[in-house]
Amino acid sequence: MSVLVTGGAGYIGSHTVVELLNNNMEVIMIDDFSNSKPQVLENIKKITGKDFKFYEIDYSNRKELEKVFKENPDIDGVINFAGFKAVGESVQKPIDYYINNVSGALVLLDTMKKYNVKKFVFSSSATVYGEENEIPYVETMKTGGTTNPYGTTKLFIEQILKDIYKSDNSWDIAILRYFNPIGSHESGLIGEEPQGIPNNLMPYIVRVACGKLKELSIFGNDYPTKDGTGVRDYIHVVDLAKGHVKAIEKLNKERSGLYIYNLGTGIGYSVLDIVNTFEKVTNQKVPYKIVERREGDIAEFYANAEKAKNELGWIAEKSLEDMCRDSWNYIVKNLT
Ligand code: UDP
Repeated sequence: MSVLVTGGAGYIGSHTVVELLNNNMEVIMIDDFSNSKPQVLENIKKITGKDFKFYEIDYSNRKELEKVFKENPDIDGVINFAGFKAVGESVQKPIDYYINNVSGALVLLDTMKKYNVKKFVFSSSATVYGEENEIPYVETMKTGGTTNPYGTTKLFIEQILKDIYKSDNSWDIAILRYFNPIGSHESGLIGEEPQGIPNNLMPYIVRVACGKLKELSIFGNDYPTKDGTGVRDYIHVVDLAKGHVKAIEKLNKERSGLYIYNLGTGIGYSVLDIVNTFEKVTNQKVPYKIVERREGDIAEFYANAEKAKNELGWIAEKSLEDMCRDSWNYIVKNLT
């Protein structure tokens, strides 16, 4: 199978490309390095011992994208990672987010249609469940009520995909709703590289542990959770990447369907669980202080991960210890 991966040099994209290559799939990658580095390409080749085609283009540039489809008539399916993903930034720059994520996806889907490529895997997010649903989140729950433009782009694209499938059910579409991906490949050659001061928990923790940031601010310890801090479903990025392989394989085997899967572990860990496990596994101290709740945060959510298990035969295998160890390993190898 030959897979076009947009945004393949990014955090989740690069880990997925490794797993696709490890499963003997052919990869054609697009990236404009707007949030990644060219070195990632070499590191993927080092990890897998395999080569792939690469185009340095913006996926929303219709003319350049068409060139990729023309030059690669063997493309069977597309996995789309080319989206902006910083929640806070999306509040400041909503137009940029809607243009890149929504218009970009439309250009990609329209080009796929033109070249008769109709297998599409989309990186969605648990954020589409909004604030109202009970936990654990199940795929059949109502979506909506997103609290920032980033989340709304995911919601809009999910709706666009449902409408496309309704109009033409020869499409095969998998919408993957990610929970909280952390960790990195065990080689330490690829990982997460947030620009500036990180907003997400694990990238912040590793920078405190290595002394680049002074202390972690824990956003609230008065939530109705086991220890008062926020609870999330953290998933190892390599497990997440393997979920994509299972999804594209399903689309390749079965004809005509729109499938939605949660990719999570089904287990909720609190901020303090993460800090304590990280300290234990790495022998590093993570000084922290408790501060006000962060606006827009909800107390607790985690996945019901049964559907992916039953239909894809996929299950997250790595533990929280693995996630902490591998997140730290990447920092030790790359930033210190
Ligand atoms: N969090 C925190 N301090 C930080 C970053 C995050 O206490 O510097 C908490 C946050 O309130 C939430 C959890 O860690 O309960 C995960 O936050 P993250 O931003 O990583 O993911 P998301 O909010 O998107 O689930």
